[in-house]
Amino acid sequence: MDKHVIIIGSGLGGLTCAYILAKNGYRVTVLEKNAQFGGCLQNFTRRGVKFETGMHYVGSLGEGEVLRAFFNYLSLLPAVETRALDRMAYDVISIAGERFPFANGEENFVETLARRFPAERQRLRDYVRAIAGVANASPLHSLRPADEMAFLDPAHVRRSASEVIESTIGDPLLREVLAGNLPLYAGVRGKTPFYIHAFVNHFYNESAYRVVGGSDVIARLLVDSIRAMGGVARARARVAAIDCDDARATGVTLDDGERLRGDYVISNLHPARSLELLDTRLIRPAYRSRVAGLKNSVSNFTVYIHFKKDAIPYVDSNLYHYDRPDVWGAGQYDPACWSGSFLYMHLCSSVDQRHADAAILMTYMRFEEVARWQGTRVGRRGDEYEEFKRQKAEQLLAALDRQEPGTRAAVEHYYTSTPLTYLDYTGTEEGAMYGILRDCTEPAQGVISQRTRVPNLFQVGQNINSHGILGVIIGAIITAGELLNVNAIIRQIKGN
Ligand SMILES: Cc1cc2nc3c(=O)[nH]c(=O)nc-3n(C[C@H](O)[C@H](O)[C@H](O)COP(=O)(O)OP(=O)(O)OC[C@H]3O[C@@H](n4cnc5c(N)ncnc54)[C@H](O)[C@@H]3O)c2cc1C
Repeated sequence: MDKHVIIIGSGLGGLTCAYILAKNGYRVTVLEKNAQFGGCLQNFTRRGVKFETGMHYVGSLGEGEVLRAFFNYLSLLPAVETRALDRMAYDVISIAGERFPFANGEENFVETLARRFPAERQRLRDYVRAIAGVANASPLHSLRPADEMAFLDPAHVRRSASEVIESTIGDPLLREVLAGNLPLYAGVRGKTPFYIHAFVNHFYNESAYRVVGGSDVIARLLVDSIRAMGGVARARARVAAIDCDDARATGVTLDDGERLRGDYVISNLHPARSLELLDTRLIRPAYRSRVAGLKNSVSNFTVYIHFKKDAIPYVDSNLYHYDRPDVWGAGQYDPACWSGSFLYMHLCSSVDQRHADAAILMTYMRFEEVARWQGTRVGRRGDEYEEFKRQKAEQLLAALDRQEPGTRAAVEHYYTSTPLTYLDYTGTEEGAMYGILRDCTEPAQGVISQRTRVPNLFQVGQNINSHGILGVIIGAIITAGELLNVNAIIRQIKGN
C-alpha cells in the first residue's frame, strides 16, 4: 500500500492515529513543533522532580475494561506502569467543610454516598444506571461493531448534565456532590451535555489509576512503536502551511521552508489553528466563520508543588474542593474572590511510594486574566507576569493549607503555569483545557467532523469526538477509520 500520511501535531490523537495507520501499512510522518512529543502528555522536570502537565489520572484499565483493551492494542502494556487510586475514594469531593468519597464500582459508589444521603439510595441507583446506559450504548466505549457511527442518543446530547442530575436527585447538596469532579470536563451549568458527564464518570467509576513515573511515557512508547513500524516522528518541526492544489491537499510546508508531500494530511490541531494553515478555496467562508465563532472550554492556573523530603504522606485520592456549594459556578468565578475551588492531587513516582514528592494544585483561570501578556515568549514575559503568578500561587497554596493544614510549610519549591502556557505549548485556543466547548443548547455548533471539505485532509484530537484519554483515543479510531474502516479497527483491538 505505502500511501504516505502526514500528521500535524503529536498529541495523543495524532500519535494514536499514526500508530493505527502504521500498523495497517501506511507510511506515516508525525510533525511536532515542540522539542517534546505528546502535547498534553508532556512532562517537565525541575530539580530532579517530574511534573505532569495535562494527563494526571486514567480510568477503566482493569481486566476487561475499555482503556485496557486500547492500551493493549497500542502496545502500551505492560510497559505503562500504574498505581490504583483508593477503590473506596478515588475522588473526594469537599464542599464547605464536608467530604464525600467516590468509590469504584456502581454498588460501592451508591452505598458510600447513601450512608450520608439514605433517602437518596434509589435515586443514586437511577443516576449510576443512567451513566452506565450512556457509556454502554456507545459501540466504541463497549467495543462493539458499529454499523453506523451516530452512536449518541440525541436525548443525551440535548440534555445538560446539570438538568439530568437535578431531575434525578432530590437532595440539593448531593446534586452538587455528583457534579464535584466537573473540572475533568470543565462543566458549565445548563450547557455541558449529559453524555460528557456520563462518559467521564463511568470511565473513572470502573477503576482509576495514576501513571507511575509520569504520563509522558505514553507518548514515548507510541513514538517508539511508530518508528519501529517504519514511521517517522520529528520534533521541532512546526508546520506553517497545509499545501493544496485545486482539488486536494498535496502536503505541508514547515516554518523553515521544507516541503513534504503526502497522499493524506491529518491535523491534530485545534480547528481554528488548522484553518490558519490553509489557504484554499476548498474551505468555504461559512466554515471559517463557524470555527471562528466557536467557544472554548475554560483554562487553568496550576501550581506544581515539590515537597520537602518525607514531609507529606502520599495519598491515593484526588481532592476536589469548593468553599461554597456551587460547583457549577466555579468556572464563572469573580476574579476578586479567586479561587474558591481547586483540584489537588499527588503525582506517583513509584508503585510503593509512601511520601509525596510532588503534587498538582489546579484551579480555573479564564484567558482574559493573562491576555495582556499574549505574544510574549515563555520565560520572557516580564516581571509583572512573574509577580502575577507568584500572588496567585500564594493565594492558592493558602487555600489548600486551609483544607489540608501543614501543606504550605511542606513545600520546598513550586512552579506555575497559566492559560498562556497551554496556548504556547499545545496551540489550543485561549489555552482551553479541553478544546471546544460542547453546549447542549446548540448541539450542532460544537460538532467538528473528522472530515473536511478538502477530501484528503482529516482532523483528530480532543476537538473531534471528545477530550481525555478515552475520548481522544476513540476520536483517533474514528479518524483512522476514514482510511481503514472503524469496524476493522475494532476487530483488531478485540484481537479477532
Ligand atoms: C490541565 C489538564 C489536565 C488534564 N488532565 C487529564 C487527565 O487527568 N486525564 C485525562 O484523560 N485527560 C486529561 N486532560 C485532557 C487530555 O490531556 C487531552 O484531552 C488530550 O491529551 C488532548 O490530546 P490532543 O490529541 O487533542 O492534542 P494536544 O495535546 O492538544 O496536542 C496537540 C499537539 O500539536 C502540536 N502542534 C500545534 N501546532 C503545531 C504546528 N503548527 N506544527 C506541528 N505541531 C503543532 C502541539 O505542540 C501539541 O503537541 C487534561 C488536559 C489538561 C489541559
